[in-house]
Parts: sequence; C-alpha cells; structure tokens
Amino acid sequence: MSDALIYLDNNATTAVAPECIAAMTASLRDFYGNPSSKHASGEAAKSQTLAARAQVAALLGASPAEIVFTSGGTEAIHQAILGALALAPGKRRMVTSQVEHPATLLLLEHLASSQDLDVVYLPVDKDGRLDLAELDSAITADTALVSLMWANNETGVLFPIAEAAALAAAKGVLIHSDAVQAAGKLPIDLKQVPLDFLSLSGHKLHGPKGVGALFVRKGRKIPPLLFGHQERGRRGSTENVPGIVGLGVAAELAAAGLQTDEAQVAGLRDRLESGLLAALPGSSITGAGAPRLAGTSSLNLGGIEAEIVLDKLDKAGVCASAGAACSAGGTEASHVLLAMGLTAEAALSTIRFSLGRYNTAAEIDRVIRLLPSIVQTALAEAA
Ligand code: PLP
Repeated sequence: MSDALIYLDNNATTAVAPECIAAMTASLRDFYGNPSSKHASGEAAKSQTLAARAQVAALLGASPAEIVFTSGGTEAIHQAILGALALAPGKRRMVTSQVEHPATLLLLEHLASSQDLDVVYLPVDKDGRLDLAELDSAITADTALVSLMWANNETGVLFPIAEAAALAAAKGVLIHSDAVQAAGKLPIDLKQVPLDFLSLSGHKLHGPKGVGALFVRKGRKIPPLLFGHQERGRRGSTENVPGIVGLGVAAELAAAGLQTDEAQVAGLRDRLESGLLAALPGSSITGAGAPRLAGTSSLNLGGIEAEIVLDKLDKAGVCASAGAACSAGGTEASHVLLAMGLTAEAALSTIRFSLGRYNTAAEIDRVIRLLPSIVQTALAEAA
C-alpha cells in the first residue's frame, strides 16, 4: 500500500502492528507444531497460545481460563447468543438494540423466524443513546439474554454497559456485550463490570483478521459451536496459533498504550471535526452529544451523496467509509443512522471517518484541505 495513502477507516479494519507481524512471522516459522501434540514442537506452540490467552485476559481484567479463541468477532457473538439460549432452554426472549452490528442482528432475525424467539430491539435517541429505564422494563423473567454493543461501529457512541450489566445481574439474566469496537480502545475491567460474555476481534485492534475471542465468565458453561477437544471443549478445530499470537501481542500493545492512544486519537478527531465543520456549511456530526469512542466521526454532509464524495476521496488517496464496511458497495441507508432519527437522505449523506494509532496531524490537515473542494466539485457536477 502506498505511503501516501491516508487510512481513516479503522473501524472497518486496522493496519496490523509491526510487533504483531514480527511475532506472527516467528510463530509461522518456528512454532508450527500442533498445540495438542505432546512433543516439544507441540508444547512450544501451546505455550504461545497460553501467553496470548494471558495477554487477552489482561486487557479485559479477566482470567486466562475465561478466554476462548474464535475465528473473529462474529463467531464469538454467535457462540454467546446461541450458548445463552442453550443455558436457558425455557426462555424465549432476547433483548438487544436497534443499532447492533449485523453479526448480532442477522443471527437474531434468523432465530426469531426459525425458533419462535421474541426479540426486543431497544430504540436509541437522536444521539444514539440507550435509555436504561427502557432496558430495565424490557428485561422480563422470560429473557434468555441481553446483548448490547459497547461501542457503535458507525458513530462510536458508547452504551452504558457497566450499568446495563449491573441491571441484568440484579435480575439474574445473562448479558453479553459485543465489544469488537471497544476492546483495546477504552479501559475494560470485567472484575468491575458483571458481564457474562464479551466478544472482541483481532483486526479491530491492530491485530490480524480471522481471530477473535469470547470472554465466558467462570461458571457459565455454554456449549461450543464447533465440537472438539481444543479450547477445553469450548471451541473445536486446531488452533490458529499465528493468529492467536498476533491477537495476544495486539492486546498487550493496546493495554500498554490505552491512555496515550486514546488521547492522541481524540485530539486528531477533534481537529478533523472542527476543521471540517468550519469549512462545510450545513454539515454536522451525528452522535456528538453522547459519550463516544475517541476515533470515530460520523459526518453528515447535509445532502450531498456520500458515495460520490467517498469515490473522489478514494481517488485522492483517502480511505473512509459510508457506514459499516459490510454494507459498503450498497446504497441502503444505515440502520444505525435511521434509528437515530436521520432521514434516509441524511443517512446517505454521511461519511464515517475512523482514526487509529498510526494517523498523524499532517494527514488530518490534508483531509481538512481536500474535502471541501471535493464537495464543491461534487455539488457542481450534480447541478
Ligand atoms: N461487531 C462490531 C461492532 C463490528 O464492528 C464488527 C466488524 O465490523 C463485528 C462485530 C464483526 O467482527 P469480525 O469481522 O471479526 O467477525
């Protein structure tokens, strides 16, 4: 990839940290044994996975035995949801929100139609906030699981997960959080937050793709999605050792740099937002009134089609997105923005910039210079 490329799509995926690449390369080269094998090569690979398990656990304030490695965020989310249903066979209700990632929503839609599950989709306000009183009244004795994202991938808006977890715990109902966008970006201490399950993904925190983790609180014996003896029977299939090693290093780097990364990224995000808002009349930031992730900015351009602007940005070497990556290419208005009360036109006029550890002030300044002229050209072309 060209050095000149300005990558502002870190919520879609992140650049793999050089430290992860080095550790993964060594793992591929030197630690190719099967962690289940009893010989020296297998033991060496096993000790790599043990180290990574401790690194991921440390990022979350969990114990290593509570970490199950998966193929990514989606698998972790699915195991939590299906596992919670299996733990509470008589309960037919799930509580979630309207703004979850498709990894959650599509599974719940499938379960609702195929298994007669009653899914409650909690609304959000115009800033993307969840109302805890509504959550409270949605949790009934018939609820198998509450599943709420920690940070929204499109707007960065944070849900009050600690309070939600306390509420669910007080009612004796299991709760899972999709923390794919939160893990490694803000402090998470599962000793303080009584979640039963939490999902994360390697490629969102400068680790590799195709690896993630599910936190399963001690004592919650959920069944696997893949049967086998690996991961103490909680996830079959020979371990993706290099991926797991990469995730472990990414977790350790994130934990070590949490405060500095967050402050630096927030500073760049504020610089980007104030520069663009000043230069683009009619623009606004969606979700700005709520607590947000440091690096996510959902910019409403005020009418002009985002796809056209993004295409021009791309040609100028700037990567951003119109919404969730998995819907990129489509022109449907984002379900997240619609749930926040935006019109379809406003939702389709939204660009998501998501910043990360490796962005610089010079890159942000270049985008602040570039975007207004791109919008001008797009407007002139449309006229
Ligand atoms: N949840 C959220 C909030 C996400 O942003 C994503 C990825 O975009 C996922 C889940 C899915 O994670 P993965 O790509 O590792 O399956």
